[in-house]
Amino acid sequence: EFVGHTAIVVFGASGDLAKKKTFPALFGLYREGYLSNKVKIIGYARSKLDDKEFKDRIVGYFKTKNKGDEDKVQEFLKLCSYISAPYDKPDGYEKLNETINEFEKENNVEQSHRLFYLALPPSVFIPVATEVKKYVHPGSKGIARIIVEKPFGHDLQSAEELLNALKPIWKEEELFRIDHYLGKEMVKNLLAFRFGNAFINASWDNRHISCIQISFKEPFGTEGRGGYFDSIGIIRDVIQNHLLQVLTLLTMERPVSNDPEAVRDEKVRILKSISELDLNDVLVGQYGKSEDGKKPAYVDDETVKPGSKCVTFAAIGLHINTERWEGVPIILRAGKALNEGKVEIRVQYKQSTGFLNDIQRNELVIRVQPNEAMYMKLNSKVPGVSQKTTVTELDLTYKDRYENFYIPEAYESLIRDAMKGDHSNFVRDDELIQSWKIFTPLLYHLEGPDAPAPEIYPYGSRGPASLTKFLQDHDYFFESRDNYQWPVTRPD
Ligand code: NAP
Ligand code: NAP
Repeated sequence: EFVGHTAIVVFGASGDLAKKKTFPALFGLYREGYLSNKVKIIGYARSKLDDKEFKDRIVGYFKTKNKGDEDKVQEFLKLCSYISAPYDKPDGYEKLNETINEFEKENNVEQSHRLFYLALPPSVFIPVATEVKKYVHPGSKGIARIIVEKPFGHDLQSAEELLNALKPIWKEEELFRIDHYLGKEMVKNLLAFRFGNAFINASWDNRHISCIQISFKEPFGTEGRGGYFDSIGIIRDVIQNHLLQVLTLLTMERPVSNDPEAVRDEKVRILKSISELDLNDVLVGQYGKSEDGKKPAYVDDETVKPGSKCVTFAAIGLHINTERWEGVPIILRAGKALNEGKVEIRVQYKQSTGFLNDIQRNELVIRVQPNEAMYMKLNSKVPGVSQKTTVTELDLTYKDRYENFYIPEAYESLIRDAMKGDHSNFVRDDELIQSWKIFTPLLYHLEGPDAPAPEIYPYGSRGPASLTKFLQDHDYFFESRDNYQWPVTRPD
């Protein structure tokens, strides 16, 4: 399904995001046949690059898998061009507008369709959005859409300022705020999984569920980029946006329809139901040297201010004040420099009682990355003569079940949605404000004069030593490895 002639402009085309994500995503869509050659893609930035330099720059991260993909790279590059111009003067925008007008004229486009992607630092975001509206917006002659990247503010106040500065220029329906977690396959699957399966839907409440965890683990530290991270910390980087978005999809009520606004209405409702965070129900950590001394501590990073209390690990207890979720502890946790890299949702059920001994709790695990999978740990009789029970799993591992299936990268999926004008997987203004309302008091506390010292954990460990107790206190029961092992090679 192709959208008609479209001009796509990537501002900040010389930058890191454009190179690593935006252009590779556009190419990925082209490779898979989801972007036709009826598009014109224009990179825009100040850096003086000629056509070849620009193309050499963006092509480095393109993924080619099959025979013929290299030809597709060349075809795709023919659709791309570059304009070098300042962000704060009209000349570049006028040239850009002429270039797009020409493209539309050549193709007899009646309704123009223009997509602007701001791969820019937030400091130039408002000026560029203003100039684009002034010089390149088609007005009543077509549709314009603008994609913006995080960070959407640093706290509630700055987020409100950003929203208010943008409001008079771009309409909410033209704006697409990216939270790339919403483009991940397992996250996009959550509503279908919950509302498409009677047995899941029926047990999705405080009568059956004892604890929910959403966790993000990264196996590396800031590695020399701590200066950037120091004023941000893991809560702003991952929890306030990505993990909270996942939580809304996991816990919201069924929307009245699958219309994007109906979905976003429910997300806002559930955000409003989250109780004020208890500042004592938070575990914060910072990584120290690895146990063997080979990996550096966070504060060894020369770009970090000495004595920094920056939080590189956080586990936050949350409560949702609705009939469905009353009493169910919810944990959002994220950390850098841990023992592994993974993002997963873990829903632990209550113990079933009465009939059998040694019964463990059911646990549903949705692994968002790497290797998308979903498994439910369940009790079953040990096969054979034994009458004992054991824990096994119902398992859906994507790469086994969906061999050779194209699973789009998050950015591919989101750019395609934006081209189609589908807002379901983008963050609405009121969602953004609610998310900052939840986290701003905690951030101020952690960054204020009475900030607690983060608990130091070794680089490469599971996190702060008190994590295990923190999980227990939130009614998460860890299954001993003697009781549950996952067979890597399965019996026939
Ligand atoms: P970047 O490389 O620092 O900046 C992108 C381009 O913007 C630069 O090539 C530069 O182009 C221009 N630029 C940089 N600083 C500027 C300034 N002070 N004034 C005017 N222009 C400036 O940033 P990025 O990593 O691509 O990220 C872009 C946006 O995406 C940011 O908001 C970032 O937070 C967000 N983001 C990035 C990533 C990522 O993986 N990199 C992931 C998620 C979100 P010219 O000098 O050529 O004009
Ligand atoms: P697991 O990742 O080994 O651990 C389960 C949970 O317990 C995690 O939340 C973990 O936290 C926590 N935990 C780990 N060690 C702990 C400790 N010493 N004390 C307290 N809590 C602890 O997951 P699992 O679901 O039991 O699965 C076991 C293995 O089988 C995993 O490697 C999993 O990937 C694999 N498996 C794979 C599939 C599949 O690919 N389809 C299906 C089933 C199982 P942390 O995350 O912080 O360590």
